Amino acid sequence: MTDQRALVLLSGGQDSTTCLFWAIDHFGKNAVATLTFDYGQQHRIELDAARRIAAYAGVGNTILPIDTFAALGGNSLLDSSIPVPVSVGTDASGLPNTFVPGRNLVFLTYAAAYAWQRDIRHLVAGVAQTDYSGYPDCREETILALQRCLQLGMERNFRIHTPLMHRSKRETVQLAVSLGALGALGMSHSCYNGKRPPCGSCPACQLRAKGFAEAGIEDPLLTA
Ligand code: ZN
Repeated sequence: MTDQRALVLLSGGQDSTTCLFWAIDHFGKNAVATLTFDYGQQHRIELDAARRIAAYAGVGNTILPIDTFAALGGNSLLDSSIPVPVSVGTDASGLPNTFVPGRNLVFLTYAAAYAWQRDIRHLVAGVAQTDYSGYPDCREETILALQRCLQLGMERNFRIHTPLMHRSKRETVQLAVSLGALGALGMSHSCYNGKRPPCGSCPACQLRAKGFAEAGIEDPLLTA
């Protein structure tokens, strides 16, 4: 039934990997496909992680190139001359320099366009407004407004699923364990410095470590 197929936005990170396993549990493996964006991120390791995780989970993966964000500049994930912040938190503007303005909006719009062509109605994204990195495009209000916009703009009854929206990092780890996603998390990548094994000190590593510590689970990435 085409109406019950789902497209997971898979970055190769912890949250989208957990969402992939949520989608497999919810829709069934044969109904799930994944989409990964090559948006010029410095750390190509993310793309490798996404490919490996999709293969491990037994679902298809498409990598879609978008080279516009790097051209816009001003971001530490895209520009090696801008240092990654050393701690979790925000600068004077209220947003960390790892924020890529419009990223989730564009990703979800491309994902919807990709899904539209394939008669897929369900989109799954690993955004969360609890324990998040301070990105306004991860908030539920933004996602609901965008869902409405995509429904109107493409005349398709899209549903954006955000299973992590109200989960803390601890709860996200617990969800991953219950879904049998730990093996895949060992292949996932979170570190803003592109290190494997992870640097352990950047905000992404800190947030990830906090979730695993609070859940009382050893991060399989650290023992991989
Ligand atoms: Zn790191």
